Amino acid sequence: MRLILLGAPGAGKGTVAKMLTQIDGSVQISTGDILRAAVKEGTELGKEAQGYMERGELVPDSLIMGIMEERLQEEDCQQGFLLDGFPRTIPQAEALDELLKKLEITLDGVVNLNVPREVILDRLTTRRTCEECGAIYNVKSNPPKVEGVCDKCGGKVVQRADETEEAISKRLDVFNEQTAPLVGYYQEKGTLWDINATSSDEVVKIIKEKLGIA
Ligand code: AMP
Repeated sequence: MRLILLGAPGAGKGTVAKMLTQIDGSVQISTGDILRAAVKEGTELGKEAQGYMERGELVPDSLIMGIMEERLQEEDCQQGFLLDGFPRTIPQAEALDELLKKLEITLDGVVNLNVPREVILDRLTTRRTCEECGAIYNVKSNPPKVEGVCDKCGGKVVQRADETEEAISKRLDVFNEQTAPLVGYYQEKGTLWDINATSSDEVVKIIKEKLGIA
């Protein structure tokens, strides 16, 4: 499957993407995960991105498009991909249209995960993430078996640097200003699936039905 997952930070894009990868071997492409790995490794990309990320701002479109142009041509994307956290601006969406045309790739759909703001805030403040493999936990509803240790890979489970109250509030403002307009962009193209996303299981069920793989 080839899908874009749209939605505010904390809407469940990563969780849903990971569940969908189990269905047909499509890969999750999270620009946030790619950037966090680059910051951790101290690469040039990481050094350029770090300040923006810590402030909860978006990294410049040109950096992101460079990453995506390379990533989408890698072998493992042949089977399909789930774009998680990309595109995030109208210029990114327009550049993605061009790139997909060039690579002769057609999307199956664009999923918009709708979650009430109070649920988002609660999820983001209680979310914890594995530094190594990106597995997502929640201190209230889904803690790791051993505190601070990833069940899947043994990596360190931490609160992300951009999940302080200040950065969360900034990220939600940035989402409303720069990313929410993508809903209209894809609605006009007729490719948008608007889904109430309080339960990830339910979201996956609806996506499977829409793709005819119930
Ligand atoms: P995420 O894990 O998707 O919440 O992304 C974490 C941070 O990485 C964001 O707050 C941005 O600073 C940066 N980022 C991730 N994806 C993008 C993107 N498509 N465009 C610009 N910045 C991005």
